[in-house]
Amino acid sequence: MRCSVNVSKFLVLAVCVLLSAGAVRADKIVLKNGRKILAYNVVEDGNMIRYETSAGQLALPKSIVDHVERGGLPAMTDSPAAAAANLKLEPSEVPFTASDSEIDKKAVHDGAIDRNYIARLEGETRTGGAPAAEAAARACFAAAQFELSKGDLERALADTRTALTYAPKQPELLMNLAYLYLRQSKFKESLEYVERAKKVSPDDADVYKLEGWAYTGLNRLDQAVASWKKAVALRPDADVQAALDRTLRDKAEEESYRENESAHFQLKYSGGAEPALAREVLRVLEAHYREIEAQLNYSPPDPIGVVLYTQEGFADITRAPGWVGAVNDGRIRVPVQGLTGVDSELSRVLRHELAHSFVQQKTRGHAPTWIQEGLAQWMEGKRSDENASVLVQVYDEGQAAPLGRLEGSWMHLHEDTARYAYAWSLANIEYIVEAQGMTDLERILDRLASGSSTEQAVRDVLHDDYGDLMQATAEYLRKNYGR
Ligand SMILES: [Zn+2]
Repeated sequence: MRCSVNVSKFLVLAVCVLLSAGAVRADKIVLKNGRKILAYNVVEDGNMIRYETSAGQLALPKSIVDHVERGGLPAMTDSPAAAAANLKLEPSEVPFTASDSEIDKKAVHDGAIDRNYIARLEGETRTGGAPAAEAAARACFAAAQFELSKGDLERALADTRTALTYAPKQPELLMNLAYLYLRQSKFKESLEYVERAKKVSPDDADVYKLEGWAYTGLNRLDQAVASWKKAVALRPDADVQAALDRTLRDKAEEESYRENESAHFQLKYSGGAEPALAREVLRVLEAHYREIEAQLNYSPPDPIGVVLYTQEGFADITRAPGWVGAVNDGRIRVPVQGLTGVDSELSRVLRHELAHSFVQQKTRGHAPTWIQEGLAQWMEGKRSDENASVLVQVYDEGQAAPLGRLEGSWMHLHEDTARYAYAWSLANIEYIVEAQGMTDLERILDRLASGSSTEQAVRDVLHDDYGDLMQATAEYLRKNYGR
């Protein structure tokens, strides 16, 4: 979940906390209504329960909390691609032939793929008929699984596609391809292969599980609900049930909402909000869209979902009290209670969240948090001026957080540390854009989309490693904001 947060307050002390922040396990706050909230550092404070998120500390009245479960799973972002990474796929009911394990062992051995062996099997398909084709498919698939285990989605995808050319109706291959596209946030492509898998395996629960996630990614919640209902009817599954329940809750909240649409957005808003406000939000979003589209030289292929909430609805669904800004968990969610028009603050928030959607789609969900938040702040118009001298001082003292530490979730950061993380990320992005140019940033995003690590992408484009980039950023701040 990405947020807009007020970073105007800034504390140097935050750095120490950041450097010592290791892997943190999340707690679970269980409400009396049965709802569970993943949170960090849950503490009782009088009649409130306080907990941490990337947007700072939040609080709930103790009266609505049933109990707190300590040390659950580390929190994941809520995006469909992130959820797909956690999907557990059952083996298909139509297995490959018995010689599979032999082929697997020959295709991948000694920690590497044997491309000569695979090429030989592929050569044999010219004369070997169906058994040869199946063997080649199996070998390519073994290579794909090896690549996936190494985190190389792009190559895993390429090998699975090759496998499919030899076994075009293999449900396991079709579903794996759908799954890999889902992990890249390419939801339309994913659905294509789900459709093909459905034709050959219409009663496989996994097909509908994948279909539900793909529809969620496309903001087609009715269809996602239908898919997941079918999946759990075919085979009970706690993960799918949880996703289904969450989506039904979302839908129930939005049932009374009105809908509006523009070229690039699907907007829902509470019946209590003014239709004129909804129209103005769309107009402002479209204007921001055109500008960000021109700046990043990119048009997101998928429509962007936006939900305008009353304050209560926002707190209920996002589990954040009213003072927190908007969030973007795949859809832009903004509280607008009391507003009759789009003021400059709301416009800024919309632009920030929209930038997240662009980066999410452009990098296929592979942008690290420092690039996401740095670029979103840059796009909303923030610059480093007020924080420059403190950031330079922190850097000179050797206390600057390595960018590698800011790649993952900021959920576990203390509020002050998060402010530092936001400011330092903005400074690095500002340096790249102002000193190197937006085209370079664009090229970094493209490399992330094709599965490159962030530091490698930075090195390829800027010829700097993280250490060089941080030093150049500190120099940039000194030169441009120095007294
Ligand atoms: Zn943000």
